[in-house]
Amino acid sequence: MAIVRESAITCPYCHHQKTEIMPQDSCQFMYQCENCQQVFRPKSGDCCVFCSYGDVQCPPKQLEANNQEEEI
Ligand SMILES: [Zn+2]
Repeated sequence: MAIVRESAITCPYCHHQKTEIMPQDSCQFMYQCENCQQVFRPKSGDCCVFCSYGDVQCPPKQLEANNQEEEI
């Protein structure tokens, strides 16, 4: 399974959307919107801003999901 590295992240304040390249093996905890300059963090229970506000989950989460599919 290929890991998707690009995620379109949507700002919760101004709904500005930007496609970002995610780090492969780490989680990004803070993100600053380039449009409104607001810095935001993941929602509770999410490991990174991509899981909360991106259209694709972060690479570690994708790997986790792939592993779970293989077990079933
Ligand atoms: Zn914004």
